Amino acid sequence: MDTFVTDSPADAAAFIRGGGIVAFPTETVYGLGANIFDEESIRKVFEAKNRPADNPLIAHVSDPFQIERLVNAIPRSAAAFIEAFFPGPLTLVMPKRPEVPDVATAGLDTVGVRMPGEPLTHEFLAACGTPLVAPSANISGRPSPTTWQAVLEDLDGKIDCVLKGRPSHYGLESTVVDCTGEFPVVLRPGAISIEDLRSVDPRTENNAGDSEGTARSPGMKHKHYSPAAKVVLVLPGNPFNTDGDCGFIGLHNPDVKCEKTVVCASIEEYASALFDFFRECDRRGLKQIFCETVSEEGIGAALMDRLRRAVE
Ligand code: AMP
Ligand code: MG
Repeated sequence: MDTFVTDSPADAAAFIRGGGIVAFPTETVYGLGANIFDEESIRKVFEAKNRPADNPLIAHVSDPFQIERLVNAIPRSAAAFIEAFFPGPLTLVMPKRPEVPDVATAGLDTVGVRMPGEPLTHEFLAACGTPLVAPSANISGRPSPTTWQAVLEDLDGKIDCVLKGRPSHYGLESTVVDCTGEFPVVLRPGAISIEDLRSVDPRTENNAGDSEGTARSPGMKHKHYSPAAKVVLVLPGNPFNTDGDCGFIGLHNPDVKCEKTVVCASIEEYASALFDFFRECDRRGLKQIFCETVSEEGIGAALMDRLRRAVE
């Protein structure tokens, strides 16, 4: 199949309406979208990514009123988060309506819903005229794509279209919060931090990474975010041993010489550069990648989550 590359949201949306699958930019990472009410298209998404069928997809909406087409009821905590953080890098898990196909949610009776804030994404979703399911637009297990070029690296010839936009602002996947229980539970950390969530609902708990969180969010058990190179975490300022056939990313200049070194001015910049850096190291065939650890505040918690998973 030829993959059509365009910067026109209307042209990209036409592929969705014709039952195709389209990669598109968002402020978190690039997504691979299909019409949520079209099971055949959804199957194509799993196939193109080689994604395990037990990993549920996130529904993307252009407007808050579309949420009601997907969920039975909006829990009170979810309503408060929608008010505070939509549109934005936040996914809320809610009880699903029967019209949302089981293949989209891996058989769960819940659906994760997000409303992206990137203006081009909004234009594209609005032109589609339907909510989309959209996982990250990468081959499963690889680092998520934060540029349209990274999408093509993995999926050229396997998807109908790529909508070209700017690089993803945050560079890490959305925060996922389960709103179906007595209190909200963070299943995956992201740019909306636990501190942000608690400022709206102080009862919010953090289950990301523990066994209960994994049981409630099947996707978290799969291997993720992994470059081919071996990833090693280093404490800020600590020396490490290398023959130079390596990459380094962090907030401080290392004393050691690496083939590819990225020094970031802030944790936010580090987060947005990470996945592209992983891909660049793989393109260069480097053996080892050294990543400086950061403090787990704000987006630092999400960054450390992705770094730990890349090490596994
Ligand atoms: P991706 O779209 O590749 O970033 O992966 C989606 C993530 O959201 C996975 O970790 C899923 O487990 C999680 N997720 C999506 N839908 C649900 C749901 N209904 N309940 C719990 N977790 C979900
Ligand atoms: Mg993914």
